[in-house]
Amino acid sequence: MISIRGLTKVFPAKPNNIMAVDNLDLEINKGEIFGVIGYSGAGKSTFIRLLNRLEDPTSGQITIDEHDITSMPKQQLRRSRQEIGMIFQHFNLLWSRTVRENIAFPLEIAGVPKRKRLERVDELIELVGLSGREDAYPAQLSGGQKQRVGIARALANNPKVLLCDEATSALDPDTTDSILRLLVDINEKLGLTIILITHEMHVIRKICHRVAVMEAGKIAEQGEVLDVFLHP
Ligand code: ADP
Ligand code: ADP
Repeated sequence: MISIRGLTKVFPAKPNNIMAVDNLDLEINKGEIFGVIGYSGAGKSTFIRLLNRLEDPTSGQITIDEHDITSMPKQQLRRSRQEIGMIFQHFNLLWSRTVRENIAFPLEIAGVPKRKRLERVDELIELVGLSGREDAYPAQLSGGQKQRVGIARALANNPKVLLCDEATSALDPDTTDSILRLLVDINEKLGLTIILITHEMHVIRKICHRVAVMEAGKIAEQGEVLDVFLHP
């Protein structure tokens, strides 16, 4: 479903350029929860920024459902970005807007009419378990609730892929578990493909089907989670 070929991102630097992502090949299947793990500086964030086209690759190709997103013109790119939802370590919510308004925001941008928008927001609030908190502001929510808003917002436009960038790294262990359970639930209910970037092994062990270990911009190892972690 997602096919990555020879993906490379070089940042100019002195004395040597930085190969943040180095000739990476990867296939991610529809409906799987795929983990990318690696130490700080391994290239994980750059990889995820290439996937949602916040960065242009130096070379290589990313195709999603046969569409080559690396050669797409800007106009089309905007549409294809709606097919990728993303959640963040620090949630990136709009602090002066309520839960409902935060979730409605991507729908507004996509030009969804008001009635449809309200319906969709109610559906999403139910899906992520935030009923009763619709009119709260982010500052009034716990970390786990903030991430639920982040997840609802990311799913608003029915993306094909959900990218999770250290999405539980700011949460305590119990809250982490409840957010991971929600991700599994969404994966199973919606058949959504999830790509999860983390430096935490237990996150990968808990919910990922397959994993790639990233080191110095390359994939050092990949496979089923049990195979990769039980046979060092
Ligand atoms: P990770 O997310 O695994 O911590 P990053 O993708 O952030 O890794 O970084 C990979 C490498 O690329 C690091 O050496 C980092 O310093 C470098 N890097 C990342 N972004 C930039 C940038 N915008 N300009 C220059 N170097 C960068
Ligand atoms: P708007 O008025 O357009 O709703 P906001 O002032 O709510 O914008 O937020 C603008 C950006 O700043 C958002 O991306 C939000 O995540 C960030 N931001 C605002 N207030 C805070 C805060 N107290 N802590 C962290 N980030 C914040």
